[in-house]
Amino acid sequence: MEFIHETHTPRVIFGEHSLSSVKAELELLGATSITFISDENTQAVAQKISAELGEKVNQEITQVAMHVPDEFSEPIISTAAELGINAILAIGGGSSTGLGKIMALELNLPLVVIPTTYAGSEMTPIWGRTRNKEKITGVDRKVLPKTVLYAPQLTHTLPLSITVNSGMNAIAHAVEALYAPQLSPLVELAALKGIEVMAQGLRKIANSLDDHSAREDLFYGAMLCGFALGNSKMGIHHKICHTLGGMYNLPHAQMHSAVLPYAVKYNEGVARIQMSKVAEILGAENASQGLWDLSTAIGAETSLGKLNFPATESAKVADFMSSYPLVNPRAFDYEIVVKLLQAASSGSRPDDESW
Ligand code: NAD
Repeated sequence: MEFIHETHTPRVIFGEHSLSSVKAELELLGATSITFISDENTQAVAQKISAELGEKVNQEITQVAMHVPDEFSEPIISTAAELGINAILAIGGGSSTGLGKIMALELNLPLVVIPTTYAGSEMTPIWGRTRNKEKITGVDRKVLPKTVLYAPQLTHTLPLSITVNSGMNAIAHAVEALYAPQLSPLVELAALKGIEVMAQGLRKIANSLDDHSAREDLFYGAMLCGFALGNSKMGIHHKICHTLGGMYNLPHAQMHSAVLPYAVKYNEGVARIQMSKVAEILGAENASQGLWDLSTAIGAETSLGKLNFPATESAKVADFMSSYPLVNPRAFDYEIVVKLLQAASSGSRPDDESW
């Protein structure tokens, strides 16, 4: 056995009462002038937290933009610099966290996150921004939140559609971590557990949206999947989603859900052992069809076509991808990537043996 284990993780406070620690966590970081980022769906809780923090909140951002376009973040960052902001607090999904990360990167400030979806960004040192319609990502320890506060009750307002697609987004992180190079065996454990917890939780929540224990499990699973994402390298699935996100501005979680079974099909002949573990967790013969069955059963997105991605653009996307490096168990094969995108557009069961 040979491995290198080195992980990066925020301090995590998980549980129903975690929000009572927000003020103290910010104080620990010496925060005296805070930018507080929230989105349109987290206003009620954001207002309560803001009232508790009082005058320390010097800049309030109450709307965010997916994939953090530079034209959106730049004026906010300039104002924060002028105001002498020295800490950032973000509540919401990956878009709120994403803006917090770009601010942390540009201004070298500590970030505290209260996530409300299963995107998992709060557990990673990965930043993403959009410049000239191209999504750019990078890794920098500066953007890894100092503290993450998971309060499962905040996810009760997530509608079914966001719940199931965001859940599949989390599973995508863990699945790709499993075939990443030099994967730490401890990160592998987190990824496997994350997939198990998410798959079980998603099946339960699809039957009963008010199931509190399923909500709690899903948040725990999302934390594990986010941890796996933040401590491994992502492969073709993420490369496709970044490309589609930048070129067509497709909705992030739904797009992940729609692409995942086909990306796994692309890799499963090469990453046999790891993908058979996923199949076993899902109780399926193979991982790609098991993921497609899960998505179909819970009502998550299975078709890029339904997200208005035209299958006729598949070659253009593959062309674009071919000019960028790819870390993936199977080398980039232009013809097969085109087939993958066409299949993901149709959303049909990933059982075409010709690729
Ligand atoms: P999002 O943050 O845009 O949220 C989706 C929708 O859900 C929004 O309308 C939001 O207002 C709403 N919402 C959020 N929480 C809610 C709640 N509790 N109740 C009701 N509605 C709620 O989308 P997302 O999928 O969470 O995040 C996507 C973004 O995160 C993308 O830009 C993606 O690139 C990024 N991301 C980054 C990483 C990373 O490691 N850097 C990882 C995953 C995702």
